[in-house]
Amino acid sequence: MENNYDPNNQEWDEKSQQYLIKDLKQQVVVSKNKAKDNLSICKTCDKFDSKWRICNECGCQMDLKNIVYRLINKSPCPLDKW
Ligand code: SF4
Repeated sequence: MENNYDPNNQEWDEKSQQYLIKDLKQQVVVSKNKAKDNLSICKTCDKFDSKWRICNECGCQMDLKNIVYRLINKSPCPLDKW
């Protein structure tokens, strides 16, 4: 099996920069209230399965999705409700 690893290839390093969190604690503080608001909107949405807390539009488990949102401030509503 051929090894194609190139230690000088910066492609992944450059991509990862988009997702690096410079100040994780600050990011969580900024996104925490917005994530809470997002879940409030989900609870009024007809796509929200309240038993399993799943969005039937995107299939996401909303508690996990909101954790992701808090950490990287990305994870949009598929219907642009938030
Ligand atoms: S469509 Fe948007 S608002 Fe509705 S449950 Fe899914 S993520 Fe929440």
